[in-house]
Amino acid sequence: MEERKLRAIITGGSRGIGKAILVELAKRNCISVMFSDVAVEGDDFNAHAKKIEDEIGNGTKVYGFKADASKFDEAEATIAEAVEKMGGVDIMINNAGITRDNLLMRMTEADFDLVININLKSVFNYTKAAMRPMMKQRYGKIVNIASVVGLMGNAGQANYSASKAGVIGFTKTMARELSSRNINVNAIAPGFIETDMTSKLNDNQKEALLTNVPLKRMGQPEDIAKAVAFLCSSDADYITGQVLTVDGGMVM
Ligand code: NAP
Repeated sequence: MEERKLRAIITGGSRGIGKAILVELAKRNCISVMFSDVAVEGDDFNAHAKKIEDEIGNGTKVYGFKADASKFDEAEATIAEAVEKMGGVDIMINNAGITRDNLLMRMTEADFDLVININLKSVFNYTKAAMRPMMKQRYGKIVNIASVVGLMGNAGQANYSASKAGVIGFTKTMARELSSRNINVNAIAPGFIETDMTSKLNDNQKEALLTNVPLKRMGQPEDIAKAVAFLCSSDADYITGQVLTVDGGMVM
């Protein structure tokens, strides 16, 4: 294991896949980690950060910051806070995301805009804000959480699949723009992962989805976190602009 010395920000890192990523990075590469979310239990970000810090229990400092990832000024404020509290940013994980599923016939303009703003514009916001300190130090790892539906589409998810396909295109362009500054930019495309996001599906829907998963189980947030930690490690220094599917074999 490499020496733990890096500082990471994870949008939507207080629960679900984002929290698993935060914990994994804290265990492997990082000395401090920050989650930025819209809300946490009791709206006490410091208390929530302390609770996660105690759960990890290896001395990694955990910070929480209230920010809506879809707003550029709030992304800039998060990076400023991270630079002040952690002394810099080495790893940026763009994880915040939502679904508002409906067939296009019934999808509202508001639900299309909301999903694009939270899932895709947030990646622009945080990449633009985080790249400045990364460029100055000539080091950075950016990992964007896309989805297999950004690669293959899914009926009922026009807004979501468009946002995730956008994240993939953005990732490849950023990999090209930032490579000269030693900043790697990659995406993970999770399949069907057990979190609050998929808890809305009923048993019949889950069973139907699993027929397309060769490994015949839903993924766990930790399955994604381990792949993210790999892309943020020195083992992945020669990998950029890639989309790694972590999906039990759904897309191949
Ligand atoms: P989740 O359990 O619903 O968690 C979503 C996280 O995003 C929460 O921490 C939430 O924060 C945060 N978030 C939502 N809107 C936000 C905003 N405007 N600003 C900042 N944070 C915001 O979902 P998940 O399953 O962990 O999903 C994490 C990522 O993986 C998403 O990008 C999702 O699209 C992607 N993904 C998930 C699956 C899956 O099967 N679960 C599959 C493919 C891709 P609050 O607590 O403040 O609401």
